[in-house]
Amino acid sequence: MIDFHAHLDLYPDPSSVIQRCTELGIYVLSVTTTPTAWERTSALASGLPRIRTALGLHPQLAQQRKHELALFRELIGKTQYIGEVGLDGGPDCKPFWNDQLDVFHEVLEHCSRSGGKILTIHSRRAASEVLKCLRAYPSAGIPILHWFTGSHKELRDAIDFGCWFSIGPAMLSSAKSREQIAMMPHDRVLTESDGPFTQHEGHPLYPWDANRALDGLATIWSKSTSEMKIELHQNLKRLGTSVLEK
Ligand code: MN
Repeated sequence: MIDFHAHLDLYPDPSSVIQRCTELGIYVLSVTTTPTAWERTSALASGLPRIRTALGLHPQLAQQRKHELALFRELIGKTQYIGEVGLDGGPDCKPFWNDQLDVFHEVLEHCSRSGGKILTIHSRRAASEVLKCLRAYPSAGIPILHWFTGSHKELRDAIDFGCWFSIGPAMLSSAKSREQIAMMPHDRVLTESDGPFTQHEGHPLYPWDANRALDGLATIWSKSTSEMKIELHQNLKRLGTSVLEK
């Protein structure tokens, strides 16, 4: 089981969620929204090789937390995983668009300087702008667009650029997303929960809920669920190897 985008530190009781993940053998990318959160979030998963903690600065917090870029720079050598980072073009975030751009550019610059990272990227209403930034830093690493909601054209551009995608159960309930998933390269896809932000019937999703995307993916790609599972694990392994090879 793979959850490549979860906010473990934001559950009311992170330890019990982590314990369950360990029991179920789930591979989790535990993302953070501020550099300040990284050390204690990383400590939660200490000694648990299937849980990796990504260093992030969420675009929605760019204005409020841009001063934490100094800490971001200090910590970047401690992890191969970066996120949640990116851009948000929604009306609530547009007022501090320039702060978002400054933060994302600096993040990508640091990723390039440290030899490339694996990045989980937020691109709500900003997929074209995210791609533009990524093109400016071709050595930043491997970009994974989490919960992609851009246009078909933006999706084609992202695929051409080499982006990966992480897909949660919520995407499978949208007809447009299902159409787009069909266009995605099978060898560049992973599952995610985006819990606890994402909810289903009033309850937050947990990392094990990422698995509910499997059946949907299998249906779209005319595979069995077990074939799907094997492919996703191969993808994860290839992604991990790409980091180790650096
Ligand atoms: Mn998220």
